Amino acid sequence: MISISLPRLTSRINGLARFGGLPGGGVTRMCWSPPHEEARAWLLGEMRAAGLETWVDPAGNIFGATGIRALRPETPVVLTGSHIDTVPEGGILDGALGVLAGLECLQAIGESRTRHARPLVVAAWSDEEGRYGSLFGSRAFCGMLEGAGLDDMAAVDGVRLVDAMARAGFDAQRAPQARVPPGSVAAYVELHIEQGPRLEEAGIPIGVVEAIVGVRRSRVIFLGQADHAGTTPMERRRDAFLAAADYALRVREHVVTRGSKASVTNFGVVHVHPGASNIVPGRAELVHEMRDPDVSVLERLAEECAALARAVAGARQVGVEIHPMSATTPAPCSPRVQAVTEKICATLGLATRRLYSAAGHDAQNLARVTDSGMIFIPSLGGRSHRVDEMSDWHAIERGANALLHTLLALADVTA
Ligand SMILES: [Zn+2]
Repeated sequence: MISISLPRLTSRINGLARFGGLPGGGVTRMCWSPPHEEARAWLLGEMRAAGLETWVDPAGNIFGATGIRALRPETPVVLTGSHIDTVPEGGILDGALGVLAGLECLQAIGESRTRHARPLVVAAWSDEEGRYGSLFGSRAFCGMLEGAGLDDMAAVDGVRLVDAMARAGFDAQRAPQARVPPGSVAAYVELHIEQGPRLEEAGIPIGVVEAIVGVRRSRVIFLGQADHAGTTPMERRRDAFLAAADYALRVREHVVTRGSKASVTNFGVVHVHPGASNIVPGRAELVHEMRDPDVSVLERLAEECAALARAVAGARQVGVEIHPMSATTPAPCSPRVQAVTEKICATLGLATRRLYSAAGHDAQNLARVTDSGMIFIPSLGGRSHRVDEMSDWHAIERGANALLHTLLALADVTA
């Protein structure tokens, strides 16, 4: 039975970690930024050196393939992949693992001349982390990107997607052309770190993902009145920040008590204007995020939170605006891909557990166009989206071998 080369995979993981690498460990490599574009060029070089055909689509997605130069319905492929962009001060495995393990699998299969009926393709999807728009590249690939909204897409710091893509040599208006011809992908499976503590705590090496949460983000703006922070009597102040803070606390309570067991919420961005210690905040902007594997729960919570925002604004005599930013759809994973992975892991002697993904992934978009699934390996301490995100190297090897044989089984037309 063939297997991946852990030294080669380790060397590539450490090689990619140099792009945007931080002095104390971890990496900042946001999509379309100079370190990301250097990493893109490096990855294309590694794919070519491994004997793969490569191409980049109009959404900036990178592909490496065995024996084909484009995706066509005449030759449906088995696709794997993940992303090489990171969050600010992120870790070296989120995304990178799935791309580089996929590349390693294709190289190991090619070198061993293992026969496979369907071509194999590895993809690195653009802007998975959603600096400009969640799961951007896979959304474009799966035909879920509206050309009309592209001009308005911007990062929280105000940088526009069209400008960021132009600097990297891409025309954002062409991104929807990345749409894959229907029937071109026979199956998709993505290897990823769990990013949570469940597998490690249970001592299980492989997670088989049953469903992926949806993520809704909206900008909530409270509009009060800027005033002198010394001379304005307390009872006359219309403090936008205090309304925002009140809202954040109430939302937390509401989601914990009224959401599902899987519901989570976060306020990770707060801006106060004018932002001076001697001025009562006239305007407070929050980015509010909620996640749940059930779309109906998410929609209900979104409506209830909007009502909460209006109630808080009314009580505190400020205005409120709610602007939806993005909403990814929760997706069940393919039962066929789950069954294949479980069968492969039984053959490899690896225990598995089914779980849902509390993080969003490109695999949820791929579920729109093909049988889509994910394989998780444990995260050390459950840590992710931080510089000390890591997994055990043997866990990485086990996960990559599970991916390798899952891909081969899916690429056998009879599977
Ligand atoms: Zn990821």
